[in-house]
Amino acid sequence: MRVLIVGSGGREHALAWKCASSARVSEVLVAPGNAGTAREPKVRNVEVAAEDISGLIALARAERVDLTIVGPEAPLVAGIVDEFAAHGLACFGPSRAAARLEGSKAFAKEFLRRHGIPTASYATFTRESFDAAYVRRQRTPIVVKASGLAAGKGVVIAMSADEAIATAQSMFAGSFGAAGREVVIEEFLAGEEASFIVMADGAHVLPLATSQDHKRRDDGDRGPNTGGMGAYSPAPVVTPALHARIMREVIEPTVQGLATDGMPYTGFLYAGIMVAPDGTPNVLEFNCRFGDPETQPIMARLTSDLTELCEAALAGRLDRVQATWDPRAALGVVLASGGYPDSARKGDAIEGLDRAARLPGKVFHAGTRLSGGEVVTNGGRVLCAVGLGDTVREAQAQAYTLVDTIHFRDARFRRDIGHRAIERERA
Ligand code: AMP
Repeated sequence: MRVLIVGSGGREHALAWKCASSARVSEVLVAPGNAGTAREPKVRNVEVAAEDISGLIALARAERVDLTIVGPEAPLVAGIVDEFAAHGLACFGPSRAAARLEGSKAFAKEFLRRHGIPTASYATFTRESFDAAYVRRQRTPIVVKASGLAAGKGVVIAMSADEAIATAQSMFAGSFGAAGREVVIEEFLAGEEASFIVMADGAHVLPLATSQDHKRRDDGDRGPNTGGMGAYSPAPVVTPALHARIMREVIEPTVQGLATDGMPYTGFLYAGIMVAPDGTPNVLEFNCRFGDPETQPIMARLTSDLTELCEAALAGRLDRVQATWDPRAALGVVLASGGYPDSARKGDAIEGLDRAARLPGKVFHAGTRLSGGEVVTNGGRVLCAVGLGDTVREAQAQAYTLVDTIHFRDARFRRDIGHRAIERERA
C-alpha cells in the first residue's frame, strides 16, 4: 500500500518512519516533509504544502495513495478529512466539525461543560460582550486564552485583573489575528500536568502509550513556553489508577458526547490534563492530532503496524485491535536553533548526523532541509534525538549520546529531559 503523511515536522518524520517499517507499505509520501524524511528509506518528499488541501487531493489521486495521515492541526481544522472523504480518499483524522475541539477553545469549553467533563470554570467573550467587571471578580492568577488556533502561543496566565483585561483587549485588537476574536477567561488550576493521547474511530477508543512533554525552554522547567523541548514514554505520572480515571471521566465521555452531538471523532485525540490535588483530571485543552514531540518517543515504542491501526479506526473496528509496545522507555530531546521560541536561525549546516545514524536510537528531523546535498537548519525545533532503555534514565543517556554527536551553530537544548520520571524511578 501507499501512504501519504501530511506535514513537515518531527511528528511527521516519526509517522513516516513508522509507516515505512511496515512490510505492507511500498512507499510513503510526505507533503512537504523535511531533510529527514527525504533521506529515509522507502520515503519520498513531495512539494505540496500541508494547508494546500486541493493540491493534496490531486497528489493522493495521482499517486494512488491508499491511506493519508494528517500531522498538523491547521489542515484538520480547515476540513481536510471531509474533503478527502468527498473524493473517496481514506484520510485518518477528525472531521472539520470534530476538529473544533482544538480549533475553538470556546467550542471545547462549552462542550466540556455540557457533557459534565471536568475542566476549569470559564466565560467566553467577544469584544462586544466583554465584561471587565466579571474579570475583576475572579481570583488571580487569571488564565486568558485566544479561542482560535494560535500556534500554541494563545494562553496568558495573568497575575492581576488589570493584566488579564489588557491581555484580552489586545487579543480583541488582533494580537493573535482571527484567533483572538473570541477570548476564554478561565480559572487557574494548580496541580500536575499530564498528556493523554488516544486513537478514536467515532465510537471506540484505543489508548496509546503514556507520555509526558517538557514545554518550558530551560532546564528545571523554567523560561518561556515552547512547542516542546522533549518528551518521554511511558510517563510514570499516569499511574494505572489515573489512566482509568482519565479514560472514564474524560476520554470516553468526550468520544461519546461528540457522537451524540452528531460529529463522531475519528483520529488521534490528545487531551492536556491538569491533575488536581484530589486526583480530578481536569481538561486544559484538546488537540485534534498527535503531539509533537510526544509522537517521536511513542512511535519509537510502537511495535504494532500503525497503518493497520489507522485502517481499523477508519473502518470503525478499533475495539478489535490492540496496540503492542516495546516495554523499554523512550526519551526524545529536542535540539532547537538559537533564538527559539521567539525566532529561528536558518541555513546553518548540521554536522554529525551520519555518525549519530550508526549509534543506537533514532534522530528525527523537524526544521531541516537539504541544501546541495547537505542538511541545514530550517526552523525553531530542528531535531529530536530519541533514545531507548530499560529505564527512563538509560533512555535519557542514549538520547544525550546522540545529542552530543550532533553540532550546529547556536544549537540549544535542555540537559534534563525526563527529570521528573527519573526522580520517580529513584523513589
Ligand atoms: P493550553 O494550550 O490550553 O493547554 O495551555 C497551555 C499551557 O498553559 C498548559 O499546558 C498549562 O501549562 C497552562 N494552562 C492552560 N490553562 C490553564 C489553567 N486553567 N490553569 C493553569 N494553567 C493553565
